[in-house]
Amino acid sequence: MFCSIIINRATNKAIDKPFTYILPEHLNALVGSRVMVPFGPLNKLTIGYLINIVSDEQITNIDFKIKTVIEVLDEEPILNQEQLEMVKFLVEYYGSSYAAAISTLLPPIDKHDIKTAVATTEFLYKAADDQAILQYLNKISHSKTFANQAKILNFLLQNDGQIVSELKNTLELNTNSSINSLLKLKLIKRVFWQVRVQHMPICYDKFLPLNSEQQQAYDQISSCSDHNTFLLEGVTGSGKTEVFLHLIRDAVERGESVIVLVPEIALTRQTVNRFTERFGSRVALTHSKLTPRKRREIYLQAKIQNVQIVIGPRSAVFMPLPRLSLIIIDEEHDGSYKSDMVPKFNAIEIAIERMKHHQGKLILASATPSLESYYQATLGIYEYLKLNQRAKNATMPTISIVDMREELAAGNTKILSRRLHNAIVDTVTQGKQVMILLNRRGHSTFISCRSCGYVAKCAYCDQPFTYHQKNKLLICHHCLNQIQVPTTCPECGSKYMQFFGNGTQKIEEYLMMHFSHYGIARMDLDTVSKKNELETLLQDFEKGATKLLVGTQMISKGHDFSNVTLVGIISADSLLYIPDFRAAEKTYQLITQTLGRSGRGADQGKVIIQTHSPQNDVLINIQNGSQPQFYKSELITRKIMGYPPYNHLFSVMISSEDEQSVIQNIKKLFAYYTHYNKKKLFRLLGPTAATMPKLANKFRWKIMIIGQPRDILLFYGRYCIDKFNEYEKPKKINIIWDIDPRNMI
Ligand code: ADP
Ligand code: ZN
Ligand code: ZN
Repeated sequence: MFCSIIINRATNKAIDKPFTYILPEHLNALVGSRVMVPFGPLNKLTIGYLINIVSDEQITNIDFKIKTVIEVLDEEPILNQEQLEMVKFLVEYYGSSYAAAISTLLPPIDKHDIKTAVATTEFLYKAADDQAILQYLNKISHSKTFANQAKILNFLLQNDGQIVSELKNTLELNTNSSINSLLKLKLIKRVFWQVRVQHMPICYDKFLPLNSEQQQAYDQISSCSDHNTFLLEGVTGSGKTEVFLHLIRDAVERGESVIVLVPEIALTRQTVNRFTERFGSRVALTHSKLTPRKRREIYLQAKIQNVQIVIGPRSAVFMPLPRLSLIIIDEEHDGSYKSDMVPKFNAIEIAIERMKHHQGKLILASATPSLESYYQATLGIYEYLKLNQRAKNATMPTISIVDMREELAAGNTKILSRRLHNAIVDTVTQGKQVMILLNRRGHSTFISCRSCGYVAKCAYCDQPFTYHQKNKLLICHHCLNQIQVPTTCPECGSKYMQFFGNGTQKIEEYLMMHFSHYGIARMDLDTVSKKNELETLLQDFEKGATKLLVGTQMISKGHDFSNVTLVGIISADSLLYIPDFRAAEKTYQLITQTLGRSGRGADQGKVIIQTHSPQNDVLINIQNGSQPQFYKSELITRKIMGYPPYNHLFSVMISSEDEQSVIQNIKKLFAYYTHYNKKKLFRLLGPTAATMPKLANKFRWKIMIIGQPRDILLFYGRYCIDKFNEYEKPKKINIIWDIDPRNMI
């Protein structure tokens, strides 16, 4: 027999591919297992993944140098059938390397402890007869250094078969060293068992009876047999989560499992509680701040379905739950579902693949779907469901727009308009709460000389520094470079350095001046870098200890505080002017999500939006509550421009510290794209400097390619890079590419 092997952690392209080996029959190897193979000119013993077994007849041209698999490392394959298919999908659909695809699917694996990769709970048993153990005990009885070994052996003599972690607890062992020594002496042995966890019954009392709109959505999803994917568009506060919870309950009762994806920042105690109070220990959550050990444990528990519901950010979509019948992607429009690291997968596409495999259902939910998903729904590819009303009899907030140019004309140069200021006074004096969005952290967004116009910029990124009040430093938000605030202008020596532009700290400062005794919190990357900082901040706000919360887009997602009746949105339009064809869509989504935090309880909510361009279509549609209108007109624009969802994108960027080299090489690369595009199947844009032309001391230029079909675009995009590398042999430049990028680089 022959087999295909992928070398573990292949670092370069030349070896990142399937290699053929002879597979001796007596090894009884199963596809998906890890094996030891001789590799390279020196036949170095290397770990490989067995991804395919082929019989002799299927191999046509056998190389006489073909090598042989030495050993099988896994008793049970580490990659199951679905995961093997997924490796193939990641490689073919995203152009991932095999190495990156495999490491995306597997938990962090301890190199020395291969067996724990598939087993779950570790037990210790006696491995010698009692006589031999007693002899050994006798030998070590006088030595203090062996005291722990003696404890373990005595304990096992009395109670054979102990869970390692419990044994360590009972005997107060802090390390594994004594256990390891005894294992080496073969006096004890280690066995891995899969332990079934007993869960508490589902807590049925906690389920709210669905209202008629929710019931209809629930019925449609449960009974639908001709669709796998649903787009659930429900206004903020319409009770989408309650619909999920009912569907999850059904799946759990059938013994199936579920994955729930949320944007990382929405993964707060509030969200998680709603799941754990009903499903208890069936729920596991993963997030980026867990230790590798903890992540592996959740993975292994999921693999044997000891947990049935996994909640987490995009990477959780790969959880190897065996009877997976439902995936829910909440806030499906969120940009974080597309990975920015290789493999640059989109969790929605992965979820679609998995639900095809398991014949399960995928629910994409949002108050403001992405245009891509909306388009799929209009085509009937996704089943389109809507929740038009808020769940708890709450109404949607009233929205008013303040023209900040008029404020200025009336002599108000402050950061808040008079209307917003007065509304805050009214709200807090009634004991209600306020949220204010400004999507820029820091205090002032640039500092400039009033005499000569000099702007302080980061030398590595060529972008203005942001002033941070707390440590009185200028910080570059792109590379984190910091400098002292210059007291005189480095260009002309003038003493008149002035701060311009507003960040969250400046609003906080303003609120402190006027409303300090109501309690003010600020939520942005500077205040919640640690997990529990975020928790404390949210808890204080939930309790009402703080009445005012100012923050960046972090405050827009998921939070359900029924006492918030006023939401202020500052510089609502700043997002509109970023060079990205999704600017209008992103602005629309951010504002709509944020205003959805207002009036979620019994009292009618209010939203005040401050802008310098009140005539903007996005704002007008938001004020009129005409969401379908916005989506339709945005789709028309995309169609005219040939942008997604009507086409696919392929982006390439070259970066290097040497600007000339970047420009020369991107021009050469562009020539390859032109050369292989004779039939003009694709539209080539560029080469141009990237949106951030310099980042962390590297210059960046890009090319954008637009067209379809996707597979040919991907092939063409990569083919030209390969040819360019092969013939030009460029030095010291970095090339990165992406298919269907979400962010315009
Ligand atoms: P969404 O996820 O759509 O923003 P949520 O699921 O957070 O909405 O629901 C908003 C609020 O309405 C929550 O406080 C929730 O407990 C409540 N709610 C949801 N469904 C119902 C229902 N059927 N009856 C009463 N309250 C409900
Ligand atoms: Zn100056
Ligand atoms: Zn910088």
